[in-house]
Amino acid sequence: MESGNDIVLVVSAHAADFVWRAGGAIALYHSRGCRVRVLCLSYGERGESEKLWREPGMTLERVKLARRAEAERAAEKLGAEIRFFDAGDYPLQPSAELVEQLVEEFRRTQPTIVLTHALSDPYNGDHPETARLAMNARVYAQAAGYPSEAKKLGAPPLFFFEPHQPEMCDFKPQVLLDITAVFDLKRSAMECMEAQEHLWEYYTQLALRRGTQAVRNSGKKEIKYAEAYQRFYPQVTSELA
Ligand SMILES: [Zn+2]
Repeated sequence: MESGNDIVLVVSAHAADFVWRAGGAIALYHSRGCRVRVLCLSYGERGESEKLWREPGMTLERVKLARRAEAERAAEKLGAEIRFFDAGDYPLQPSAELVEQLVEEFRRTQPTIVLTHALSDPYNGDHPETARLAMNARVYAQAAGYPSEAKKLGAPPLFFFEPHQPEMCDFKPQVLLDITAVFDLKRSAMECMEAQEHLWEYYTQLALRRGTQAVRNSGKKEIKYAEAYQRFYPQVTSELA
């Protein structure tokens, strides 16, 4: 993942997924002057808002509004644009309209890097559903015959971000991204997600562990925090570095 004039498109199932799993990458690329756009397919109103549902008289609409406000604050801290699709969760049910909107996003945004969920997650079917939607939208956006005013997409590399229980999701940490320089921003974005306060420390500890592994795999002792990613398509390179 080199910098430059990259455009990063992050496809997140629920309101907070992009923060825990890719907040460092988002802040890092934003700090390099790159555009980062987050697509939130759902607010995670049913499945990932436990704390809000403990409040008396809570309604679905209030949960959605709260999650949306949190995600907007987090995106702002990280330096990302954000769009919500309100496609529902548990289950996230993709409509033909949602697919079209996603293809249009890929065509108009012209990302050079795509981040999304892994294709397997036995604890949350919305995550692989989102991965399939993002991967299909990327492919449809490449098709010359797809009806769209925007120009067709090239072949941006696609990375899976780390699931909550990686070993259960066939996830291998093939790429360790050094997020030391922006970890404070990631932590403050995580703290915007008040409905999931129990995860703040968890994802701080994970970043430290991935940081330790990044040092082990690179010899770069200055790395303290990292995020793990997995490639899906082959990496094309002229250097075996
Ligand atoms: Zn989620």
